[in-house]
Amino acid sequence: MASAFGHAALGYALGRISFQKTPAKIILLCIACTVIPDADVLGFVFHIPYASAFGHRGFTHSIFFAVLLSLLIIYIFFRKKNDLEMNKTSLFALFFLCTVSHGLLDAMTTGGLGVEFFFPFDTSRYFLPWRPIKVSPLGVSNFFSEWGIMVLKNEFIWIGIPSILLISTRILINRINSRK
Ligand SMILES: [Zn+2]
Repeated sequence: MASAFGHAALGYALGRISFQKTPAKIILLCIACTVIPDADVLGFVFHIPYASAFGHRGFTHSIFFAVLLSLLIIYIFFRKKNDLEMNKTSLFALFFLCTVSHGLLDAMTTGGLGVEFFFPFDTSRYFLPWRPIKVSPLGVSNFFSEWGIMVLKNEFIWIGIPSILLISTRILINRINSRK
Protein backbone atom coordinates (compact mmCIF):
# COMPACT_ATOMS: atom_id res chain seq x y z
CA MET A 1 0.00 0.00 0.00
CA ALA A 2 0.76 3.58 -0.14
CA SER A 3 0.32 4.90 3.42
CA ALA A 4 -3.11 5.85 4.79
CA PHE A 5 -1.89 9.49 4.76
CA GLY A 6 -1.10 9.32 1.06
CA HIS A 7 -4.47 7.81 0.18
CA ALA A 8 -6.37 10.24 2.42
CA ALA A 9 -4.54 13.26 0.96
CA LEU A 10 -5.69 12.32 -2.53
CA GLY A 11 -9.25 11.65 -1.24
CA TYR A 12 -9.32 15.09 0.35
CA ALA A 13 -8.07 16.73 -2.86
CA LEU A 14 -10.54 14.89 -5.11
CA GLY A 15 -13.44 15.80 -2.80
CA ARG A 16 -12.28 19.39 -2.45
CA ILE A 17 -11.99 20.08 -6.19
CA SER A 18 -15.16 18.32 -7.33
CA PHE A 19 -17.58 21.09 -6.45
CA GLN A 20 -17.22 24.82 -6.14
CA LYS A 21 -17.71 24.52 -2.40
CA THR A 22 -17.70 20.88 -1.36
CA PRO A 23 -19.57 20.20 1.93
CA ALA A 24 -17.47 18.66 4.72
CA LYS A 25 -19.71 15.58 4.75
CA ILE A 26 -18.73 14.76 1.17
CA ILE A 27 -15.02 15.43 1.76
CA LEU A 28 -15.05 13.09 4.77
CA LEU A 29 -16.78 10.38 2.73
CA CYS A 30 -14.20 10.83 -0.04
CA ILE A 31 -11.39 10.32 2.48
CA ALA A 32 -13.18 7.24 3.85
CA CYS A 33 -13.42 5.79 0.32
CA THR A 34 -9.67 6.16 -0.19
CA VAL A 35 -8.79 4.51 3.11
CA ILE A 36 -11.39 1.71 3.45
CA PRO A 37 -9.82 -0.69 0.88
CA ASP A 38 -6.91 -1.33 3.28
CA ALA A 39 -9.36 -2.78 5.82
CA ASP A 40 -8.35 -6.01 4.11
CA VAL A 41 -5.16 -6.09 6.24
CA LEU A 42 -7.51 -7.45 8.92
CA GLY A 43 -7.43 -10.62 6.82
CA PHE A 44 -3.91 -11.26 8.12
CA VAL A 45 -5.41 -11.66 11.60
CA PHE A 46 -7.70 -14.37 10.22
CA HIS A 47 -4.81 -16.02 8.35
CA ILE A 48 -6.14 -15.14 4.91
CA PRO A 49 -3.06 -15.40 2.66
CA TYR A 50 -1.87 -12.19 0.98
CA ALA A 51 -2.14 -13.81 -2.45
CA SER A 52 -5.72 -15.08 -1.97
CA ALA A 53 -8.54 -13.36 -3.89
CA PHE A 54 -9.67 -11.87 -0.57
CA GLY A 55 -6.13 -11.19 0.68
CA HIS A 56 -4.44 -7.80 0.90
CA ARG A 57 -4.81 -5.79 -2.35
CA GLY A 58 -7.45 -8.30 -3.42
CA PHE A 59 -11.25 -7.90 -3.49
CA THR A 60 -11.37 -4.56 -1.63
CA HIS A 61 -8.97 -3.04 -4.16
CA SER A 62 -11.08 -4.07 -7.17
CA ILE A 63 -13.22 -1.94 -9.48
CA PHE A 64 -16.15 -4.15 -8.44
CA PHE A 65 -15.67 -3.22 -4.77
CA ALA A 66 -15.48 0.48 -5.70
CA VAL A 67 -18.92 0.18 -7.34
CA LEU A 68 -20.36 -1.62 -4.29
CA LEU A 69 -18.89 0.83 -1.78
CA SER A 70 -20.06 3.89 -3.73
CA LEU A 71 -23.60 2.50 -4.04
CA LEU A 72 -23.62 1.68 -0.33
CA ILE A 73 -22.53 5.21 0.60
CA ILE A 74 -25.21 6.76 -1.60
CA TYR A 75 -27.78 4.40 -0.06
CA ILE A 76 -26.76 5.12 3.53
CA PHE A 77 -26.01 8.84 3.39
CA PHE A 78 -28.07 10.22 0.50
CA ARG A 79 -31.07 7.88 0.34
CA LYS A 80 -33.81 9.83 2.07
CA LYS A 81 -33.58 13.35 1.02
CA ASN A 82 -30.54 14.52 -0.79
CA ASP A 83 -30.09 17.33 1.70
CA LEU A 84 -27.13 18.67 -0.21
CA GLU A 85 -29.15 18.72 -3.42
CA MET A 86 -26.38 17.16 -5.38
CA ASN A 87 -26.79 14.91 -8.32
CA LYS A 88 -26.51 11.31 -7.12
CA THR A 89 -24.78 10.19 -10.30
CA SER A 90 -22.06 12.81 -9.79
CA LEU A 91 -21.70 11.74 -6.17
CA PHE A 92 -21.47 8.09 -7.21
CA ALA A 93 -18.78 8.98 -9.78
CA LEU A 94 -16.82 10.91 -7.15
CA PHE A 95 -16.92 8.13 -4.53
CA PHE A 96 -16.08 5.55 -7.20
CA LEU A 97 -13.09 7.59 -8.33
CA CYS A 98 -11.84 8.01 -4.76
CA THR A 99 -12.11 4.26 -4.06
CA VAL A 100 -10.45 3.27 -7.33
CA SER A 101 -7.67 5.80 -6.68
CA HIS A 102 -6.59 3.57 -3.80
CA GLY A 103 -5.88 0.58 -6.06
CA LEU A 104 -4.23 2.82 -8.65
CA LEU A 105 -1.82 4.30 -6.08
CA ASP A 106 -1.03 0.83 -4.73
CA ALA A 107 -0.36 -0.35 -8.28
CA MET A 108 2.24 2.44 -8.53
CA THR A 109 4.19 1.26 -5.47
CA THR A 110 7.57 -0.43 -5.53
CA GLY A 111 6.67 -3.56 -3.58
CA GLY A 112 4.19 -6.13 -2.36
CA LEU A 113 1.83 -8.03 -4.63
CA GLY A 114 -0.07 -6.31 -7.42
CA VAL A 115 -3.68 -5.17 -7.28
CA GLU A 116 -6.63 -7.40 -8.13
CA PHE A 117 -8.44 -4.77 -10.21
CA PHE A 118 -10.72 -7.12 -12.14
CA PHE A 119 -12.16 -9.33 -9.37
CA PRO A 120 -14.35 -11.46 -9.76
CA PHE A 121 -13.62 -11.93 -13.48
CA ASP A 122 -9.87 -12.10 -13.19
CA THR A 123 -8.01 -12.62 -9.93
CA SER A 124 -4.57 -11.81 -11.37
CA ARG A 125 -2.60 -9.06 -9.66
CA TYR A 126 -1.53 -6.00 -11.62
CA PHE A 127 0.94 -3.14 -11.30
CA LEU A 128 0.99 -0.02 -13.47
CA PRO A 129 4.04 0.32 -15.74
CA TRP A 130 5.14 3.41 -13.75
CA ARG A 131 5.88 2.76 -10.07
CA PRO A 132 7.51 5.77 -8.38
CA ILE A 133 5.80 5.38 -4.94
CA LYS A 134 7.80 3.64 -2.22
CA VAL A 135 5.80 0.82 -0.69
CA SER A 136 4.58 1.56 2.84
CA PRO A 137 5.25 -0.86 5.70
CA LEU A 138 2.35 -2.99 6.88
CA GLY A 139 1.48 -2.37 10.53
CA VAL A 140 1.68 0.73 12.67
CA SER A 141 4.85 -0.15 14.58
CA ASN A 142 6.84 -0.61 11.36
CA PHE A 143 5.59 2.74 10.16
CA PHE A 144 7.36 4.68 12.92
CA SER A 145 10.77 3.89 11.53
CA GLU A 146 13.21 5.24 8.99
CA TRP A 147 11.24 3.37 6.36
CA GLY A 148 8.04 5.18 7.40
CA ILE A 149 9.71 8.60 7.19
CA MET A 150 11.17 7.76 3.79
CA VAL A 151 7.69 6.73 2.60
CA LEU A 152 6.13 9.98 3.81
CA LYS A 153 8.79 12.07 2.06
CA ASN A 154 8.33 10.09 -1.14
CA GLU A 155 4.52 10.36 -0.94
CA PHE A 156 4.73 14.09 -0.39
CA ILE A 157 6.43 14.33 -3.80
CA TRP A 158 4.20 11.93 -5.73
CA ILE A 159 0.84 12.43 -3.98
CA GLY A 160 1.10 15.54 -1.76
CA ILE A 161 2.39 18.00 -4.36
CA PRO A 162 -0.07 16.91 -7.10
CA SER A 163 -2.90 17.17 -4.53
CA ILE A 164 -1.81 20.69 -3.55
CA LEU A 165 -1.67 21.64 -7.24
CA LEU A 166 -5.19 20.31 -7.83
CA ILE A 167 -6.59 22.25 -4.87
CA SER A 168 -4.74 25.42 -5.86
CA THR A 169 -6.19 25.17 -9.37
CA ARG A 170 -9.69 24.84 -7.90
CA ILE A 171 -9.16 27.90 -5.66
CA LEU A 172 -7.93 29.87 -8.68
CA ILE A 173 -10.93 28.84 -10.79
CA ASN A 174 -13.30 29.80 -7.95
CA ARG A 175 -11.64 33.22 -7.71
CA ILE A 176 -11.92 33.81 -11.45
CA ASN A 177 -15.58 32.72 -11.42
CA SER A 178 -16.43 34.98 -8.49
CA ARG A 179 -15.06 38.01 -10.37
CA LYS A 180 -17.33 37.48 -13.37
ZN1 LIG B 1 -4.10 -0.82 -0.35
